Amino acid sequence: MSKIKVVENILHTNDEITSQNKRLLNEKGIYVINMMSSPGSGKTSLLERVILKLKDNVRIAVIEGDLYTTKDAERIEAQGVPVVQINTGGACHLDGRMIKGALDSLNLDNVDLLVIENVGNLVCPAAFELGEDIKITVLSTPEGNDKPLKYPRMFENSGAVILNKLDLLEFTNFNKVEFYQDISSLNAHAIIFETSCVREQDQGVEELCTWIRQQINNK
Ligand code: MG
Ligand code: ZN
Repeated sequence: MSKIKVVENILHTNDEITSQNKRLLNEKGIYVINMMSSPGSGKTSLLERVILKLKDNVRIAVIEGDLYTTKDAERIEAQGVPVVQINTGGACHLDGRMIKGALDSLNLDNVDLLVIENVGNLVCPAAFELGEDIKITVLSTPEGNDKPLKYPRMFENSGAVILNKLDLLEFTNFNKVEFYQDISSLNAHAIIFETSCVREQDQGVEELCTWIRQQINNK
């Protein structure tokens, strides 16, 4: 049997479990974000900021995907929202089966927004549907503006793209004009946010949260 066959079979099984997950999440009226990026783009810090701004009005739950450790889940738990950590044990993306396990341990009757923080990886998370309403890809300025064209699938499949670590822009060669051109050539419908999460002052998080609230209300 060729290797390609195996991958097709994995994706096929994932689709079945994911449709069950999606049905459940829709029944409960939960808006689901699949948050993807490379390691170190600042997903967890951004999520902390978003939770801080939304949690008084929106019931949030989080699924944290990491290869190992519960470090990110501990940070989210400190915000006082329910969180489940998935340790993939080395696997480089989340899949429907893992999400099913996590959903089983959350009380979905008390959730408006579920954020799934995927494993840091710009490649295969894009290929695995998790039952989400939207994929959001985070790219940070130090990673370089060449990443959308190098890893197109992530950006093609995302409803929103967040350019993070805007505070570091001046120290990098990141070309924002090319970034906007490349995103619109890959995915003309993607909405783009610019954010930074530096300690006291954050940038763009309020706009992002306003948009997330609209998405939840429109579901
Ligand atoms: Mg993280
Ligand atoms: Zn993978």
